[in-house]
Amino acid sequence: TDLTHIRNFSIVAHIDHGKSTLADRLIQSTNTVADRDMKEQLLDSMDIERERGITIKANTVRIDYTADNGEKYVLNLIDTPGHVDFAYEVSRSMRAVEGSLLVVDSTQGVEAQTLANVYQAIDADHDIVPVLNKIDLPASDCDRVAEQIEDVIGIDATGAIQVSAKTGVGIHETLEAIVNELPAPKGERDAPLKAMLVDSWYDAYLGVIVLVRIMDGVLKKGDRVKMMSNGTVHHVDRIGVFKPERADIAELGPGEIGFLTASIKQVRDTRVGDTITHEKKGAIEALPGFNPSQPVVFCGLFPVDSAEFEDLRDAIDKLALNDASFSYEMETSAALGFGFRCGFLGLLHLEVIRDRIEREYDIELITTAPSVVYHVYMRDGSQIELHNPADMPDLSIVDHLEEPRIKATILVPDEFLGDVLKLCQDRRGIQLDLTYAGSRAMAVYDLPLNEVVFDFYDRLKSVTKGYASFDYQLTGYREDNLVKMSVLVNEEPVDALSMMVHRDRAEARGRAMVEKLKDLIPRHMFKIPIQAAIGGKVIARETLSAMRKDVTAKCYGGDATRKKKLLEKQKAGKKKMRQFGKVDIPQEAFISALKMD
Ligand code: GDP
Ligand code: MG
Repeated sequence: TDLTHIRNFSIVAHIDHGKSTLADRLIQSTNTVADRDMKEQLLDSMDIERERGITIKANTVRIDYTADNGEKYVLNLIDTPGHVDFAYEVSRSMRAVEGSLLVVDSTQGVEAQTLANVYQAIDADHDIVPVLNKIDLPASDCDRVAEQIEDVIGIDATGAIQVSAKTGVGIHETLEAIVNELPAPKGERDAPLKAMLVDSWYDAYLGVIVLVRIMDGVLKKGDRVKMMSNGTVHHVDRIGVFKPERADIAELGPGEIGFLTASIKQVRDTRVGDTITHEKKGAIEALPGFNPSQPVVFCGLFPVDSAEFEDLRDAIDKLALNDASFSYEMETSAALGFGFRCGFLGLLHLEVIRDRIEREYDIELITTAPSVVYHVYMRDGSQIELHNPADMPDLSIVDHLEEPRIKATILVPDEFLGDVLKLCQDRRGIQLDLTYAGSRAMAVYDLPLNEVVFDFYDRLKSVTKGYASFDYQLTGYREDNLVKMSVLVNEEPVDALSMMVHRDRAEARGRAMVEKLKDLIPRHMFKIPIQAAIGGKVIARETLSAMRKDVTAKCYGGDATRKKKLLEKQKAGKKKMRQFGKVDIPQEAFISALKMD
């Protein structure tokens, strides 16, 4: 296709503002998909994405559109991952297109992810068309929201398109705006090939499918191409586009978005942001900004039933095949037996993988406390990256520790602001900015990531009745007074419960932890001390008193069948217990004990 008749765009929005529904309408109204094949949320393919309303992989669709001016255009929509965990993937997808539709729910207004995503679009030099969605609803207030877009984001919203993605109002205007207001891509057909690797995923039949945006040159079936990050060479055996089903074509030229396959076995061999060129007469310089994403949150995953370890290994191997940013290695824990230490891009990524293992592979898991990556500086001048609190070296040989910090943006109705500020303060936050837009406040905080990985988001939702929106980005590492807190049950350390904490907060955390465990661990026939300690020093202690009598005998003495049922239940329950020395700890205790507050 001739460059001037291509438009590449993405849709940026806060979750639930109607991105997927709008994409559906654009696809449907252009007859890209026959009505009988149309289903809702066409681009959100994975079940878990659909259920949670999030997109994890970039998805793309090529739409043929004949505009009011009579010309035929190719519109390429890239649906970007909608969550902070995948910020790097979002930034790559954004670099693959020239413009964005900024969708804002006209009954709600600008939210934290609206901001985060639109800033990504602005960073990528996009032209932006504001779209006010859900105008069919009585609460819709386009004037107010347009004004808010101008105030908060600083882009002109006078020409904002008023849309109902539900009823179809404004869809034609949106298509015309894409053609008339967004720029055509640039690129040179005769220059050496430069294709940006936007995303990749594993397909059981074709191997790895690589989504590319051609910047310069032409990619053809049969070409030998090279990944510029590592020099590996592949033979291209298929080229195509998504409509949104795969459709093979002969070549992709500058400005176009499509896929290639090249008998690549693992997603790991394809890195988002990499530049693909020809093996011979290739480009000399790669596209700028290649910076593969690194796991930032680590935790242990252990099977509840230790007999399922091999099944877990199998599940993890399979999931990793399709997810280059998920890392794992075997781990043994004195408390939990064999499992894996896994690295994730963020908490949502962790949850998604954990859910998939439990659901798709039917393995019940114990998840240990999520930990961020600390930089540990040793007295002898060396440095290590600490992924697991259990590996923390003895304090006597440690000089100091650094922890990752984030810049968090929170948007919240005024009435909840006090609670939000208190929450941030409690989590060692430093206020960077506080501004107002209408009846909403925007608080910007510098926070330690480790204070956010536990349950910050849950707490935020609960203190604001769900009205706050939250977004963050990593900003770097900073030194602080951090120590490892261990938990001992009946004098035995429970490695799965050890965690890194700030020294000033260690006692409060320790106390909360032992109090919680006291409630969570069932009584035994003997007294059980529960302690939190830093190094050899106990900082909090509770004692679980011994069970007095045989409760079963007393309550159910007469009824044999009930007693049998009870014992069966106990036996099933036993499987979910873990033994620590002589003490049984129920699996729920781990999960609950690790939730703060
Ligand atoms: P996304 O998270 O941005 O992809 O949002 P979705 O497209 O999944 O939409 C979120 C919810 O809003 C869904 O229940 C949609 O049916 C609904 N929705 C989307 N657009 C409209 C609209 O124009 N009007 C109304 N009334 N509901 C809409
Ligand atoms: Mg969606």
